Amino acid sequence: MSVASASDDPVSASSSTGPASTVSARTGSARTGSARTGSASTGSASTGLGLTGPALTGLALARGEVDRAAHLRADADWLKAAWADPATRVIVVERGQALCELTDEHAALAFTTPRQAPAGVRFLLGVEVDGLAYFGVAGALPESVGPGVRPAYLREAGPLLSDRDAGLLTHAVALANWHETFTHCPRCGSPTDPFASGHARKCPVDGSEHFPRVDPAMIVLVTDSADRALLARNAQWPERRVSVLAGFVEAGESAEQAVEREVAEETGITVGAVTYLGSQPWPMPQSLMLGFRAAAANTEINVDADEIAEANWYSRDELAAAIAAGTIRLPPPVSIAHRIIQSWYGSELPGSW
Ligand SMILES: [Zn+2]
Repeated sequence: MSVASASDDPVSASSSTGPASTVSARTGSARTGSARTGSASTGSASTGLGLTGPALTGLALARGEVDRAAHLRADADWLKAAWADPATRVIVVERGQALCELTDEHAALAFTTPRQAPAGVRFLLGVEVDGLAYFGVAGALPESVGPGVRPAYLREAGPLLSDRDAGLLTHAVALANWHETFTHCPRCGSPTDPFASGHARKCPVDGSEHFPRVDPAMIVLVTDSADRALLARNAQWPERRVSVLAGFVEAGESAEQAVEREVAEETGITVGAVTYLGSQPWPMPQSLMLGFRAAAANTEINVDADEIAEANWYSRDELAAAIAAGTIRLPPPVSIAHRIIQSWYGSELPGSW
């Protein structure tokens, strides 16, 4: 799929139904030897191959503080007691939205109690150190519960939420979207039932178990030998919007292979060293964005006109000038795309998607 595929595109992500990729496979050698495979929470992503840069930390939707407590998902007695506890907090998600208390600078989840929660698939989100339990319910949003409280999408509220609330809402939206979409058994077509406290579904006819679907997508900043960045505009985007290249990882393909293939298909650029930067869930509806940097082996751009309207190399000065002149607009800070571009640029950038 194309540049900043729907998965990381805050405009079209809500309507994305999956990796409707039509790209052909081109397998290259995966340069996994150079990739950072551990946590991207510390230090820099130096590969020894000439590509260095800060690892991505504090990504808006890659935060969280609450223990997911997976060991309790099958504990019926504990679940029953937790749901009966009036202190238990519930996040209701309806079509990707949850009630939040929102201002321009801050957001907080507006929880309901189990008694106030609507009917719907219920899932355990986690447990605080002090034993406070959090559940999600995929169902009708309750009436607004206070001043300043209204339904909000993850991409809007996410960056403004605390680490705790951002993690809870990302988790809840991912599960709610999955339950809304994957309701039937792919083997026999029967309706499936949630189990494992909403973290899986089971077919009552053939017993098959099904788990939340996550579509990995790579997103990559390609730089040339002069450290210019390759930014492109998807043919379906409005004028001026540009971003780094992105696309879904295909079946039987590594993320690094997807980087090589997508960059070559979309721009004609061959990449050498590929460096992993970090990841962010983008559950609108079900993506996991894997961020990379890659070094270009050539600079002559040949765009795939079906998917890419234009692609250009930008020095830092050229990027700053283009933004100041209003000739390009970057993705918003909630996106990993913005953070990748910013990590290359070296300081804050406006996001005016
Ligand atoms: Zn079945």
